[in-house]
Amino acid sequence: MQANFDTDVFIVGGGPAGLAAALACREQGLEVMVADCAIPPIDKACGEGLMPDSLAVLAKLGISLEGCETGKFRGIRFLGEHDSVEAGFPSGHGVGIRRPLLHEALVQRAKERGVQTLWGARVTNISADTVVVNGGSIRARWIIGADGHNSQVRRWAGLSAGPARLTRVGLRRHFQMRPWSEFVEIYWGSRGQAYVTPVAENEICVALISRQRYLSFEHGLAEFPQLAARLSAVAPSTRARGALSLSRKLPVVYRGNIALIGEASGAVDAITGEGLAMAFRQALALGLALASGALSAYATAHRKMMRLPSLMSATMLLMDNNGGLCSRSLRALSRQPELFARLLALHVGELGLKDFGASSLFHLGWRLLLA
Ligand SMILES: Cc1cc2nc3c(=O)[nH]c(=O)nc-3n(C[C@H](O)[C@H](O)[C@H](O)COP(=O)(O)OP(=O)(O)OC[C@H]3O[C@@H](n4cnc5c(N)ncnc54)[C@H](O)[C@@H]3O)c2cc1C
Repeated sequence: MQANFDTDVFIVGGGPAGLAAALACREQGLEVMVADCAIPPIDKACGEGLMPDSLAVLAKLGISLEGCETGKFRGIRFLGEHDSVEAGFPSGHGVGIRRPLLHEALVQRAKERGVQTLWGARVTNISADTVVVNGGSIRARWIIGADGHNSQVRRWAGLSAGPARLTRVGLRRHFQMRPWSEFVEIYWGSRGQAYVTPVAENEICVALISRQRYLSFEHGLAEFPQLAARLSAVAPSTRARGALSLSRKLPVVYRGNIALIGEASGAVDAITGEGLAMAFRQALALGLALASGALSAYATAHRKMMRLPSLMSATMLLMDNNGGLCSRSLRALSRQPELFARLLALHVGELGLKDFGASSLFHLGWRLLLA
């Protein structure tokens, strides 16, 4: 660390993106400080599903969820009013984990790796290489904004938030019951989706995402009668918690010595279940870029990483916005489940876009016409 700095890297926000970035920077031998205005373990409304690709990146950051209370799933099932289709992951399995438990695992690893953390500490300004936190100033060579959708670091750095292409509202709640499925189930309704993730041997997480705000969780659940019937006899184990799901792409994710990561740096719709994996991947790329002193490499990697999740997000939102297309897609996929399996393989990074290929797109288009 250079003598005139208090730390090499100062990270604003100690959520999943901030802590993952801290770990990746420590891996490169950089001194890191993280500040978050909340106190761990930090909870947030989330579907709480980690796909196999998320687990693979977490492992690269030195984090294993072995020993944590988790649920397992082996694929994804889409359920419409009349049709359903499911596919297993080509390899590995996904894990459902309560958000505070995931945060605890990240905090623990950060402690082990010597990350300095300031909890209950709000950052109120940044300028050049100085961060104002809890009324005091800290000098850092690099400043990272991991402060979520409403990033103030983004604003202070004069970086554009870009247009939010779509904002949806998410609500999640837990139910104490044995998961009935080995799949994460996604129910497609007329105004949004409900998805169910096993998060423990005897607990499930239910997340509702919609274009319109529901009056209450029960009100939203009523739009998915099949799911509501399953949950009717079970008491919820947590209160409903809400969060916004934004789809947004930033034109630029860094300026000078300031870079953005996680939701501060753009996002895809929550329905993709890729938000956390994207943040973890960005963290690895950011660590490498800071070690080499070139944030432009991070910007290039970031752009590439957003491409596929953005495409998947746009496809699912198109289905969400067009009831007819959604029913036709579900009917088409239920008649050709191998196509759904290929889409899932593409989604979790086990199949490249080139390998997915024109023939799969042709089959999908043809099936949609016939459905
Ligand atoms: C309904 C819903 C369901 C989702 N389901 C999934 C899913 O199943 N799988 C998945 O991978 N992703 C899912 N996501 C996305 C996932 O939740 C996000 O990708 C993830 O939370 C992004 O992490 P982050 O660290 O960027 O932001 P956050 O988790 O929002 O963390 C930002 C942190 O910054 C802190 N902060 C903000 N301002 C300041 C300040 N001035 N000073 C100090 N601290 C500050 C906040 O306290 C907060 O802790 C879902 C999202 C929603 C809304």
